[in-house]
Amino acid sequence: MAGYDWLLSFIEDEAIDCDLSRCGRFRGALQPSHFKPLAEQAESFAQKLDYPVSIIDKSQQHTEVGSELYHGGVVYQKDASLNPAKLLKGLIERCQAAGVTLVDQAEVTHIKDNSAGFRLTINSYSLQASTLLIATNGYTTSVTQELKRRVLPIRSSMIATEPLPEALINSISPRKRTHGGTDRLVFYYRTSPDGQRLLFGGRALSYHDKPQEYYSFLKQNMHSLFPQLEQAKIANAWSGLVAYSFDHIPHLGKQNGMYYAMGYCGSGVARANYLGHKIALQMIGKNGDTGFDHFDFPSKALYFGNPWFMPAILRWHSFADKWGL
Ligand SMILES: Cc1cc2nc3c(=O)[nH]c(=O)nc-3n(C[C@H](O)[C@H](O)[C@H](O)COP(=O)(O)OP(=O)(O)OC[C@H]3O[C@@H](n4cnc5c(N)ncnc54)[C@H](O)[C@@H]3O)c2cc1C
Repeated sequence: MAGYDWLLSFIEDEAIDCDLSRCGRFRGALQPSHFKPLAEQAESFAQKLDYPVSIIDKSQQHTEVGSELYHGGVVYQKDASLNPAKLLKGLIERCQAAGVTLVDQAEVTHIKDNSAGFRLTINSYSLQASTLLIATNGYTTSVTQELKRRVLPIRSSMIATEPLPEALINSISPRKRTHGGTDRLVFYYRTSPDGQRLLFGGRALSYHDKPQEYYSFLKQNMHSLFPQLEQAKIANAWSGLVAYSFDHIPHLGKQNGMYYAMGYCGSGVARANYLGHKIALQMIGKNGDTGFDHFDFPSKALYFGNPWFMPAILRWHSFADKWGL
């Protein structure tokens, strides 16, 4: 929550145009038995964390979402949405204005420590660095093997419909909030900032980038929630890797002299920006304390960074969602 508040203030202070909307989030109960614990958890957030919520009965849920699949839900009033590509563009522009040199297409293939810090091999070049931060999240490779074996890369994917008739999109998301449900596989959706398209995402079942596979999977799940979208054409599909940690919390710290921050468990927009800011403060010797500083970064015996078992686990979650287990 500190990270969330920090990011919103940062975007406003830096005047970054990234379609930030304090729209709130609706989370629907996908089984009748999910409603009570969801409502109780939301109420405890409201009491303990000053995090306002509204509990929405099934009879009222059409004011929030145009799907019959939910059994009521909750609205987290403070949640917001933004366009991450525009946020990244804003960050790049602010860095460049401050004199930072940014180099893209520069894969570090080897890191060797020496008395002056680290020698990095980048393509056919080498570079000396006094301080190093590893912020590779779901793309962590064996260049930093000890970190690679601490994160589980999982593919997250999205589709966008073509512009939809106004009445249709308004019935699906009457208040233009972000949306999700209590499903294990975490499907999420919202309207595009211009309010014309539905953006629908979820975990892909495969680690590899197989657009045909996740495109069909997302479309199928979008149609189960919204049969009224059967005729809607899909304009775009894309995916990327997120990183889960074994204890489901993000991690930052220092290992073998290198700083690291990663493991945002699919919620890196606020977390990566906030913890990136904090670790940067730590790197320059300023106070960058966070609530995550003193946790070990766990791995599992025999896990070396190849998540070969994840497709089976994700398929199990998909099966469990389908049959309400
Ligand atoms: C489809 C999708 C939807 C998402 N939706 C949400 C959402 O709704 N809310 C939310 O909070 N989060 C969401 N996320 C997650 C969020 O995008 C990530 O958590 C966030 O991007 C993490 O930021 P990062 O900078 O730590 O890592 P990344 O953005 O993954 O960047 C890591 C970078 O490290 C680089 N790299 C790796 N190895 C090397 C190397 N050896 N040398 C040089 N560079 C290297 C990679 O090229 C990459 O550019 C979503 C992700 C995806 C893919």
